[in-house]
Amino acid sequence: MAVVVVGAGIAGLACARALTEAGVAVRVLERGRVCGGRLATKRYDGRRTDIGAAYFTAQDDGFAALAGRWRDVGLVREWTDTLSVLDPEGAHKTTGPMRWAAPGGLRSLAEDLASGMDVTTGHGVEWIEPGLKVDGVDADAVVLAMPGPQALRILHPDFTGARLAVENQVWLPSLAVTLVFPTRDWSDFHGAFVNDHPVLQTVFDDGERRGDGAPVLVAYTTAEFAEQYVADPSAAADEVEAAVRTVLSLTDHVITSHVHRWTYARPSQAGRSSYYLDEQGIGIAGDAWGSPRVETAWVSGTALGQALVARLS
Ligand SMILES: Cc1cc2nc3c(=O)[nH]c(=O)nc-3n(C[C@H](O)[C@H](O)[C@H](O)COP(=O)(O)OP(=O)(O)OC[C@H]3O[C@@H](n4cnc5c(N)ncnc54)[C@H](O)[C@@H]3O)c2cc1C
Repeated sequence: MAVVVVGAGIAGLACARALTEAGVAVRVLERGRVCGGRLATKRYDGRRTDIGAAYFTAQDDGFAALAGRWRDVGLVREWTDTLSVLDPEGAHKTTGPMRWAAPGGLRSLAEDLASGMDVTTGHGVEWIEPGLKVDGVDADAVVLAMPGPQALRILHPDFTGARLAVENQVWLPSLAVTLVFPTRDWSDFHGAFVNDHPVLQTVFDDGERRGDGAPVLVAYTTAEFAEQYVADPSAAADEVEAAVRTVLSLTDHVITSHVHRWTYARPSQAGRSSYYLDEQGIGIAGDAWGSPRVETAWVSGTALGQALVARLS
């Protein structure tokens, strides 16, 4: 038997790594064709674009050590600590923690974490039954590393504690709209938080953060705007392009655009503990267990993995 981790986003992979490094057998099941979840990089017209997390921060000591290792092997680089704020009163710069970017796309980090582990993609788990059976197969413990609403779909009603732990989570959607321009018609711009805007929440320069200088921006919409386009997300492209051109005073029109809908982009509230683990052997980790960030998800998964090591050994 083994610990079964359901979900190969960064939380699930971090959990599986902590277990593997302690010698605990672990199997990861991921319903997507690739690992990464919201650490997502998609190939459009032959070029990779980050369409999930825009960047990551590394303020936790353990995660900072991992970021340093990734930097040493060329997977990531320190991108910027300065972003713009665009609001109705005008624009200004804001300085915060270092934002890290990945030249090969952020999904490359999930691939790095997954390497050497037993990870099966294309396996959507349908049901976790009492007795810890995952789609009918026995497990020592089961980790659900995913947004709460996705966990609720596969947890048998007898897992009352685990269901209670996630049933009040509220998640917000967003559209990630990749805008490919003919030239880089902007300067001195890494990315921006857009305040009090009906369409836009943030806009990032994907060519700059990825380092290839491609004239590509990725815009993330507000939840309210995304909700208007549930049936046909791609219909939102023109409105998002127009909004970006206005806030950044761009004259060019895009050559192409691509819309990706995130149904569970981020939780609306920050969790207070860093994971859930109960006596029935169900663990839950992810970015709802803290602030909605890549590093929170890694910290959550790692802490749950360590707790399972202590319990099982
Ligand atoms: C648009 C957007 C912008 C963001 N920007 C930033 C940012 O700039 N900086 C930052 O730090 N964070 C950002 N985030 C948040 C960051 O991406 C997440 O915090 C982090 O990636 C969450 O990782 P996770 O492993 O908890 O969840 P996920 O990445 O959602 O992983 C869950 C995995 O579980 C899988 N799964 C679900 N159900 C099943 C099932 N039944 N069977 C098998 N597998 C299943 C899913 O396919 C998925 O791969 C952003 C997120 C989005 C969507």
